[in-house]
Amino acid sequence: MSEDAKWNWSEDEIKRVGYRVVDMISDYLTRLPSRPVFQPCPPDLIDGFVDGPLPQAGENVDALLDEFTSKVASFPFGNGHPRFFGWVNSPPAVIGVFAEALAAAMNPSCAGGNHAAIYVERQVIQWFKKLLDFPMSGSMGLLVSGGSMANLTGLTVARHVKSPNVRKEGMQSLPKRAIAYMSSEGHSCVRKALELLGFGSDNIRTIPVDDSLKMRVADLELTIRRDLEEGHLPVVATVSAGTASTGAIDPLNGIHEVCRRHGVWFHVDAAYGGPAILTDRHRADLSPLKDADSLALDPHKWMYVPVEAGLALVRDGAAMRDAFSLVPPYIRTDGNSAGVLGLPWFSEYGFQQTRGFRALKVWMALKLHGVDGYTHAIDHDLVLADRLAERVRQSGDLELLTQPSLSIVCFRYAPPRLRHDEEMLNQLNKRLLESVQLGGQAFLSSTTIRGAFSLRACIINHRSTEEDIDLLVNHVRLIGESLE
Ligand SMILES: *Cc1c(COP(=O)(O)O)cnc(C)c1O
Repeated sequence: MSEDAKWNWSEDEIKRVGYRVVDMISDYLTRLPSRPVFQPCPPDLIDGFVDGPLPQAGENVDALLDEFTSKVASFPFGNGHPRFFGWVNSPPAVIGVFAEALAAAMNPSCAGGNHAAIYVERQVIQWFKKLLDFPMSGSMGLLVSGGSMANLTGLTVARHVKSPNVRKEGMQSLPKRAIAYMSSEGHSCVRKALELLGFGSDNIRTIPVDDSLKMRVADLELTIRRDLEEGHLPVVATVSAGTASTGAIDPLNGIHEVCRRHGVWFHVDAAYGGPAILTDRHRADLSPLKDADSLALDPHKWMYVPVEAGLALVRDGAAMRDAFSLVPPYIRTDGNSAGVLGLPWFSEYGFQQTRGFRALKVWMALKLHGVDGYTHAIDHDLVLADRLAERVRQSGDLELLTQPSLSIVCFRYAPPRLRHDEEMLNQLNKRLLESVQLGGQAFLSSTTIRGAFSLRACIINHRSTEEDIDLLVNHVRLIGESLE
């Protein structure tokens, strides 16, 4: 291919390469279940990547695709496999894979403007408001890279509303010390976000949790009262609607009440758990999501949209704009959808200027599967988590370390004769985890529960079956026995 043809592909070449890529995608997705869940990259491959030369002369496209197959597709992270139960990473909805390509073909900037991609994103945001029973008018939302950015976005609005001079004066000259609250089980990205926003780790109060690892409401209230007595400014409490560690859902109503009483911003981190509101089982306990001042929810987790896709929703859309807007005069607009500029730009409601067309994959996945399809898929995961918990309870040598919540099951290998020795159990289960992860049969992650090392299975996987769960349990028991 000539230099020029490489920039300006002919219709035939686009189709030839495109069809080949579709074959590769199909092979990858359909053959995944018969491959090891995970295997580490071989050292020589790593060296080749890290120390490899800069491509000076361009290569041939078919050689490039071959190289992808042998070197990249062969060593995946592991998610997508029906027995991947690590962290909070789901398989991709296939429609999302194609949506990514279609979005890239259009390649718009969704900073703003009067083009269809903007209205696709607007529609997605309206759908999420409906899904959560969030106020439809006055509120605003934004698709971002994930839960971390969604939390940062919501917390930025909280800081702005509770200390309106902060954009001018910065955190240094606030008349009062600004304080934020989260539980000891809250996600690290919330702490990171608060540190970036200048709260300072000394001013992030870590509220203790109860036996089911949920924030203690009474402790939150006591801490806020003490801060008020000392003349500080309580700004925001971040609560988890499903912690990443164990799936615990904080007492949302109780915390909302405390926040309201003291004028504290109620921010909900529903990155993982939010979509479970679709199920009968969790409709009630997640219904307070509608009361959030701001919230984070990850379509790239339990909604199976390929990464990256996170959603930030803010009750007071005008405040969101005030917190971020810094508009160059050439794109200032006030809601005129007739001209070139369109509605107020998304870039006024968040940190990013050029923004990808993330909305397309969320929009297509929601339209293809529908609310019914999602309800069914999430219920399927809850039922598999029940099955895993039941199998653990029935196995004399396994032990649940906390009541399962949402679709996370935390357990360990603990034959009764070893149950007096916590240190030995911790060591044994650490070795067991590594052996499971490297074995390629199934994949788990770990967490720490009241000081104990725990195996952790997070089931957000529409590809998993009951047999996969049974295989996991048998596998863990066999390895446990062999390591004792
Ligand atoms: C995953 C997760 C986050 C972080 O979101 P990213 O999408 O990884 O940026 C925050 N909170 C919870 C509860 C999560 O599960």
